[in-house]
Amino acid sequence: MPVKNRFAELLPEITAWRRDFHEHPELMFDVQRTAGKVADLLREFGCDEVVEGIGRTGVVGLIKGRSDSAGRVIGLRADMDALPINEATGLDYASKTPGKMHACGHDGHTAMLLGAAKYLAETRNFDGTVALIFQPAEEGGGGGREMVQDGMLDRFGIQEVYGMHNMPGIPVGTFAIREGAIMAAADQFDIVVTGKGGHAAKPHDCIDTTVVAAHIVVALQTIASRGVDPLKQVVVSVCTVATDSTAHNVIPQQVVMKGTVRTMDPKVQDYVERRVSEIASGTATALGASAVVTYQRGYPVTVNAVEPTGHAVKVAQEVSGQVDPDTAPLMGAEDFSFMLNERPGAYIFLGNGDTAMVHHPEYNFDDDAIPFGSSWYAGMAEARMPAA
Ligand SMILES: [Zn+2]
Ligand SMILES: [Zn+2]
Repeated sequence: MPVKNRFAELLPEITAWRRDFHEHPELMFDVQRTAGKVADLLREFGCDEVVEGIGRTGVVGLIKGRSDSAGRVIGLRADMDALPINEATGLDYASKTPGKMHACGHDGHTAMLLGAAKYLAETRNFDGTVALIFQPAEEGGGGGREMVQDGMLDRFGIQEVYGMHNMPGIPVGTFAIREGAIMAAADQFDIVVTGKGGHAAKPHDCIDTTVVAAHIVVALQTIASRGVDPLKQVVVSVCTVATDSTAHNVIPQQVVMKGTVRTMDPKVQDYVERRVSEIASGTATALGASAVVTYQRGYPVTVNAVEPTGHAVKVAQEVSGQVDPDTAPLMGAEDFSFMLNERPGAYIFLGNGDTAMVHHPEYNFDDDAIPFGSSWYAGMAEARMPAA
C-alpha cells in the first residue's frame, strides 16, 4: 500500500477543496460554511450516513465496508477551524476575511480526510464501518471535547480513533510519531495582586503591587528549575502583566498576571497547580499584599496508545517509507486528546516541508502533502478492518 494512485488522480480536486477552505477561514465553533461544505461533499460521495451539529458544528460521516463481520468501527478525525491572524502569504487564494486565516493547516487536514472519504466510499475495501470525524474549535475552544460530550463515540460505536497534523520543518512525505505522550496538557492561570495604590513619591504609604508581582514572577521560575524532576517536562510562563496605572508617578492598586502551564505527567500537573497558588499567595502575604489565583485546566496530555501507534507507524511506512517512530514530544496542546482519553488511538505528524511555522501569518499548508495524508487516513481504515 504505497501512496494510492487514486489520490494522484484526485489531487486537483482535493487541492481545490483545500484552497476554497483556505480562502474562507472560520473561527472556533463558527464553522458553518466549512461544515456545510464537508457535509455536502460526504453526501455526494455516497456516505451511508452524514450527521451534522455534533458538538455544536461538528460533522460525522459513516461509510460501511463491503462486509461487517465483527462490528468494527474506526474513527478518523480532522479539524476545521482557523485562527484570528491577518494573513501575509500574498497567495491568490489567501483569506478573504481580514483577521481570519488558516494558519494551522486545518484546511489541509479537512481536505485530506475528505479525499480519503471519497476513496473509501468508492472502494469500501474493508470489513466494518469508517467514521469520518470533522471537528470545530480545535484552537482553544474544545470542539473535540464537545463532540465527545455529545456522545459521538458511543452513538456511532467508535472503537479506535486516529488523527493527523501537518508539521513544518519535517520533509513533505515524512511522518513522525511516538508512543505515549506526544503533546502536553495546557492549563492557564490568572493572578490578581491587590495592594495599596498611591503617590509614587510616597511608597511608604503604599503597598506596591508592581514589586509584589515582580517577586511572584521570579519565584514562579523555581517551579521548573527547583521543584520538578529535571527529567520531566514542564513549562511555566507568565505572559501578561497589567497594572491599573498608566502613569509614571502612580503606584497601582492592582496587578493582573496571566500565564500558561504545560506538563506531560499528571503528578507534575498537580504539583504545578498547587505551587502556583502557594507561591503567589505566600509571596504576596510576605510583602503585605494579597493575591487571588485562578487555575484552569485546559486540554489534557495527548497520549498515543502503544498498539495503535504501531499500526499508525506501519501504515505510514507503507505509504511513504519515511517515518520517525520516536519523534520528540511537543509542549503544545491538542484537543484530539479528549478523544484519545476515551478510546485507544494515535496522533501522527505529517511533514509540511520548509515553511513558516504553524500560527505564523506567512504559513501555508503544502498541497504536495495531500496524497500522503489521504493515503494514511484511508490506509488506517483498511489496515484496522481488513477485508475478509
Ligand atoms: Zn494550531
Ligand atoms: Zn492545528
